[in-house]
Amino acid sequence: MEINSRTTMVCLLGHPIKHSFSPTIHNYLFEKYLKNSIYLCFDVKEEDLSESVLGIKALGIKGCNVTIPHKVNITKYIDSIDENTKLIGAVNTIKNEGGILKGYNTDGRGFVKSILDKGYKIKDKKIMIIGAGGACRSIAIELASMDAESIEIRNRSLEKAKEIIESINNNFKTRVSCSKNIIEKSCLEDIDILINTTPIGMENDLCPINTEIVVNKKMLVCDIVYKPNETTFLKWAKKNNLDVIYGIDMLINQALEAFYIWTGVNTCIDDFKHIKKLYEEIS
Ligand code: NAP
Repeated sequence: MEINSRTTMVCLLGHPIKHSFSPTIHNYLFEKYLKNSIYLCFDVKEEDLSESVLGIKALGIKGCNVTIPHKVNITKYIDSIDENTKLIGAVNTIKNEGGILKGYNTDGRGFVKSILDKGYKIKDKKIMIIGAGGACRSIAIELASMDAESIEIRNRSLEKAKEIIESINNNFKTRVSCSKNIIEKSCLEDIDILINTTPIGMENDLCPINTEIVVNKKMLVCDIVYKPNETTFLKWAKKNNLDVIYGIDMLINQALEAFYIWTGVNTCIDDFKHIKKLYEEIS
């Protein structure tokens, strides 16, 4: 990587950011496609967020990713937000277009890309999402914008699920409902795509579904938890001969979508495979 007076920068704003995988992804892509750009991480506390955004403008930083805990708050400080991102209400990617900061959310898009790349469709599919937090919201809005037939949200509490339902009902024709997260075998009979968006299974062997359930049908099972790579939920799916999508796939694809927003470069499947290998080596 060449660093000189023409080097441009993209960065990550978050707190904490020490364990972020994003620099590995983007510096690999910059090295391959643009050479003279660099991706750096900035640990930004809540009270410093607005000044950090001013800094992006003042220093001509080309764009940034935004992560926990700033994804919602940062929407106050940017100049325009793309339509689906407005409905999601959280920004994870900003492009600086000559001093105008445009906000996007690539989490849902990255998730959808993982499904499409695997050869599955979203239009007319019946989908169940476990969890109703920020990740569920971005995924559900994106799935609805791609004409999923129905989305059923299962969560331990229903308040946030109802807010997601309202947004989808007001903007898309996808049928959407919610109920408590008690999932019996019979609940899955009609489902084409089952997604875990809770942190259940993260760095432990817990599972958001009863692993005694036996499924005798085709269904795509996706976990957005990426530590461990193969969660108990995905092990359960594989035991039932179901196709799976890993959390790391969404993580990489949301980054590839952000890279496209900043650079206009369409990455290829070999980039995805290379980055996934890098992740497997360090995890
Ligand atoms: P969040 O906004 O905190 O939402 C978490 C959701 O899970 C909430 O609906 C919560 O229910 C539910 N939940 C949490 N703990 C639970 C438990 N023990 N039992 C039952 N339900 C539980 O978090 P998020 O931002 O959506 O992220 C969720 C997970 O996705 C995290 O593990 C995160 O690392 C992962 N993630 C992965 C990617 C990726 O690229 N692969 C991207 C984003 C997030 P209540 O509403 O009742 O509290």
